[in-house]
Amino acid sequence: MMRKSEGRIYRRCGCADPATGRPVGACCPRLAQRGHGSWYLTLELPPDPDGRRRRIRRGGYPTRQAARQALAQLRTPGLAGGTAITTGQWLHRWLACHAAPASSTVRGYAAHVRLYLQPHLGAIQLAELTTAHVQAMFTAIIRQHQATGHPSPPPRWPAFAPRCAPRLTPRSATA
Ligand SMILES: [Zn+2]
Repeated sequence: MMRKSEGRIYRRCGCADPATGRPVGACCPRLAQRGHGSWYLTLELPPDPDGRRRRIRRGGYPTRQAARQALAQLRTPGLAGGTAITTGQWLHRWLACHAAPASSTVRGYAAHVRLYLQPHLGAIQLAELTTAHVQAMFTAIIRQHQATGHPSPPPRWPAFAPRCAPRLTPRSATA
């Protein structure tokens, strides 16, 4: 999957403009001083299925090097640390390595992945997936079902997901 940009890192602080009270962010003159503020990264991701812009923004890194390393890891899917896989890649990995793929339970999971999880969540970085994303998926599915008169109830979040995710998303601090 192509990324829109390679991302960038920058330094900013919590200072506010005394006249307006608004944060000055990356424009603060004191950023020239050593140790003022902290390092941030931003990385543009491919748009979600609705064409909305998606961007990772993280901050609080003590050094330029720390922010650069974190950005490099986010940019490199499959790098040791494994945090940079998408939710879709993770779901397919789970299905692929699960025993007894012919069982009706796993077939049911596969159908949920194909019909709902992949289209709504597949492009989201697994490390960035939040309950808000999942909630938005349910809302979209319920609206879609209401609009089409679809009789079946919306899917539940598969029981396997929260149980397995931590094993596949080790902490990135070792990078
Ligand atoms: Zn400042």
